[in-house]
Amino acid sequence: MSAGGIQGLPGEFELISRYFAPLSKGFPGAFGLRDDAAVIRPASGRDLVVKTDAIVGGVHFLSDDPPDLVARKALRVNLSDLAAKGAVPRAYMLDLMLPRDIQEAWVAAFARGLAEDQAEFGIHLIGGDTDSTPGPISIAIMAFGEVDIGRMIRRDGARAGDKIYVTGTIGDAALGLAALKAKLPGLNPASAQFLIGRYRLPSPPVRLGPRLVGLATASIDISDGLIADLRHVCEASAVAADIRSDHVPLSAPARSILAEDPGALRTVLSGGDDYQILFTAGPAAGGKITDLALELGVSITAIGEVTSWSGQRDQRITVLDAKGHPLMLGSEGWTHF
Ligand code: ADP
Ligand code: MG
Repeated sequence: MSAGGIQGLPGEFELISRYFAPLSKGFPGAFGLRDDAAVIRPASGRDLVVKTDAIVGGVHFLSDDPPDLVARKALRVNLSDLAAKGAVPRAYMLDLMLPRDIQEAWVAAFARGLAEDQAEFGIHLIGGDTDSTPGPISIAIMAFGEVDIGRMIRRDGARAGDKIYVTGTIGDAALGLAALKAKLPGLNPASAQFLIGRYRLPSPPVRLGPRLVGLATASIDISDGLIADLRHVCEASAVAADIRSDHVPLSAPARSILAEDPGALRTVLSGGDDYQILFTAGPAAGGKITDLALELGVSITAIGEVTSWSGQRDQRITVLDAKGHPLMLGSEGWTHF
């Protein structure tokens, strides 16, 4: 930072040494955040996988969200990408843009959230930048992970005949955001709390990701929404896909919302922010995937199949209902043709 002080906060260097330097402890190449740059030495035979994602107040989180959860979300939206790429996370950098009226207590809680996730995922803060901004809080994180050389799981490896899998449950975060914006009147408080929790704190399958190397043919994290992210995989792989709407895994609150209002399927299939993983794998991999899910205690659900793409069908992704009839996305949501 060079843009003057931030009201209500100690000086920049004091802030770094008080809240951020302790988070670098245990990573020698971070030099205690007392140098200009950090050094990451990947293990021999390993590639460094790098990813950056920013979250902005009022866009990706709400400005009065608890700061520790904001910190963990900022980190996890990056960890989900590393997981989808098969990488083991190691370290991250943090660029923090803070409004001038931010309180020190906010920064303290933010750093506490980072510490919690560092312990959970075995990673360290190795550097960053701190600045003031006339706009909302904005947080950019760059995460670094490792994978065997040449083995990062790409978007472009899906082949016709592969099965399509997703981890966790889908749609919770988008429904949680709707609940936060009071767009789900009549939702019981316990369900609302559960879904809002999913929006505020995603749980990407960080331990599963590296185990998908050699198993998944393609993979992506679900940030834009199930359909949009599946489309990214299909376009990169020059294939198409059929998914069954009734196979998409739902939490109990999501299931009861859908039972009341079938139109909510649109939010489930097209809403974003779940930060689960979508991957494809050959038909022979099914047994290994089931074993892996059991071993790691992660739910993995087959939702459809990769098909060939002639370039002539009018859509890449076909959504089928429980009877195998195609659904169409219109202004009313997903309906029959
Ligand atoms: P420079 O003057 O080169 O921009 P800074 O004074 O911004 O360097 O930062 C000093 C040290 O503190 C560097 O090691 C930098 O990586 C680290 N640092 C600054 N802000 C943060 C932050 N928000 N999180 C982690 N490390 C930070
Ligand atoms: Mg700086």
